[in-house]
Amino acid sequence: MATNQAINILLEENSLSEKEHQISKKVLNGERISAEEALFLYEHAELGYLGVLANHIREEKNGDNTYFNKNFHIEPTNVCVYSCDFCAYSRKIKNRTDGWELNMDQMMDIVKKYDDQAVTEVHFTGGVLPQYDVPFYEELFRRIKAHRPELHIKGLTPVEYHYIFKKAKLTYREGMERMKAAGLDSMPGGGAEIFDKEIRDQIAGGKCSSEQWLEIHEIWHELGMRSNATMLYGHIETFAHRVDHLNRLRKLQDKTGGFMAFIPLKFRNKNNQMSHVPEVNTIEDLRNYAISRIFLDNFQHIKAYWPMIGRDTAQMSLAFGVNDMDGTIDDTTKIYSMAGSEEQNPAMTTAEIVNTIRLTGRKAIERSTLYEPIKDYTAVLFEEDTQYRGYAFKKDR
Ligand code: SF4
Repeated sequence: MATNQAINILLEENSLSEKEHQISKKVLNGERISAEEALFLYEHAELGYLGVLANHIREEKNGDNTYFNKNFHIEPTNVCVYSCDFCAYSRKIKNRTDGWELNMDQMMDIVKKYDDQAVTEVHFTGGVLPQYDVPFYEELFRRIKAHRPELHIKGLTPVEYHYIFKKAKLTYREGMERMKAAGLDSMPGGGAEIFDKEIRDQIAGGKCSSEQWLEIHEIWHELGMRSNATMLYGHIETFAHRVDHLNRLRKLQDKTGGFMAFIPLKFRNKNNQMSHVPEVNTIEDLRNYAISRIFLDNFQHIKAYWPMIGRDTAQMSLAFGVNDMDGTIDDTTKIYSMAGSEEQNPAMTTAEIVNTIRLTGRKAIERSTLYEPIKDYTAVLFEEDTQYRGYAFKKDR
């Protein structure tokens, strides 16, 4: 069914409240919804209704295209000077013998392990430690570029940058200029957590503030570079805090246009100091994807980070506004497996990620980090396809 048709049927539905009707009309006309309307959606809207609206926007912006890339992560350390309550991954500095701390040669060995593989991106993320400072990252990025110039370096977040620039007595602009000169290509969206100060102080106190997080992204965009944005949801925040978070991102995006994708990150409650806080359910995950898609009209992409949410929910999210599945990952991140995600060894082969997408009737497109299409997998057949025995969505029925 064409998405216009679906939304028109929705508009004829007598059971819609006046407000739901107004919001649907706005979406159909490509108009922006207000923060107050987003809060209304969080508090009152049902999943099916949200799915129709979010899917309409998704198809207007991206058609059936669903993107993924071939990437791997390097996590230099899981020891951290901070101790965010929701973090299952980090070890406090006084317990550093429980963790790992890679040196530069060890990180280069990981990069070299992929020399004969068609990966396009290395993603750096991890704990914050004094030895990983500005000169260290400059040398690391330069060595990677010297070894494999076309490998896209997506690395670190304002949490690390705030810490290392302060230590080096650099302004954010000076620091980001040096990172760019050393070979940093883009910045991932992590460290945003939740922008509300009171909640942020409670769960992630001590690290960069929300204003600093936004400022570093703004400066990076002003340097002509791109980044992503995240939101940690489903812990002790309210719906109003989520709307406030999305609204701050939307305002910055209006100003710079530098964000590529928004990635909601679900709070997982294993092995951390917030294990008493229950996780939200899948319905809430899908509602959150859909409302993000509806509200963030100036973001081109909404991504489901499958190592965090699990590949099944990520697959379902493709009907609720999501058009990106991140990457193949190759079991190179531990952040969410240590927090209790379904994905204990996150790795998908190209065939697996393509089929996760294709079975929902969408087009699987391999992309670069900056969303340039690399390969359309619509007509590619894998050996696994001959063994598949379930339902396969076909648009030409
Ligand atoms: S979330 Fe990041 S900054 Fe916070 S403790 Fe974990 S690794 Fe450190």
